[in-house]
Amino acid sequence: MNETREKCDKISVIVPCYNEEESLGHFYERTALVLAQMDVDYELLFVDDGSSDKTLSILRDMRERDSHCRYVSFSRNFGKEAAMYAGLREADGDYRVFMDADLQHPPELLPEMYQAVSGEGYDCCGGKRMGRDGDGALRSFCSRMFYKVCKALTHMDMGDGYGDFRMMNRQMAEAILEMKEYNRYMKGIFSFVGFHTKWIPFENVERESGESKWNFKSLLGYAAEGILSFSTTPLKLAGIFGALLLAAGLLVLLVNLVQQIFIPGALSQFEVLLTVILTLAGMQMIFLYIIGSYLAKDCMENKRRPVYIVRERG
Ligand code: UDP
Ligand code: MG
Repeated sequence: MNETREKCDKISVIVPCYNEEESLGHFYERTALVLAQMDVDYELLFVDDGSSDKTLSILRDMRERDSHCRYVSFSRNFGKEAAMYAGLREADGDYRVFMDADLQHPPELLPEMYQAVSGEGYDCCGGKRMGRDGDGALRSFCSRMFYKVCKALTHMDMGDGYGDFRMMNRQMAEAILEMKEYNRYMKGIFSFVGFHTKWIPFENVERESGESKWNFKSLLGYAAEGILSFSTTPLKLAGIFGALLLAAGLLVLLVNLVQQIFIPGALSQFEVLLTVILTLAGMQMIFLYIIGSYLAKDCMENKRRPVYIVRERG
């Protein structure tokens, strides 16, 4: 497959893990089997994102038994985005790929991904998930709506199905590491850095064991993160609404003046006034909230806090 290369390429498989004691064994078996059959050197770099179950001790065991395995363990749960960032920094492979521990990213795709980045001139090769089995109707619907809104607001295609399961070359990995922000929205970061990416479709599979770490509230927060981190359009909406309201206000004033002149005493009613005031106050509060959200993000960025803190390496 790679006769033309002089040295053997190294692939770093980066695996964020948060309470994955039930999945890790099977993940390791299936992934190591695929990698061992490829004509490459490889490492399995697990990032324990502050798990409270047996994840860390399983990783210690794996490290003992197989020198291809390494791990970094955080001092607490910092979130998947932080775990991916840490993995990318710690990895030293020529090609680096993110994979979920729950086998929702089929390792059988790795040879094809490697072929794309090492032999077909692509910088990155990602798995595009088809379908959303096991996600539930509401979650699927909300996700689809989010990606539509996101595309309109950020002008970047962070599309549905384009997840984190991507193999990239060193140049792209370094470009991602150059993005030093604290609020790390990986889909946006991938989209921002660009590079030539090939997509391989794969059938969505349900998580093998354990539970998804997402609930509706955390997904909503994740969606807001994506928009706040990569678009300032919501701030501009205040200007557009303001201009529209000003125009409407001037029109009402004009109508009132005309009425006063031609039909004295025909003033607008108290209820109408109250409705208008409430609507305007509500809108102002919403825009204050939006401005506040951006300020809060900026405030966190300015603190220059570390994205993650390592407690143990092995
Ligand atoms: N994960 C993590 N930190 C977190 C939440 C999740 O490292 O705070 C890992 C998790 O162990 C898994 C991957 O991120 O390997 C995807 O998580 P999950 O399966 O819960 O997400 P979903 O597939 O439902 O989007
Ligand atoms: Mg999953």
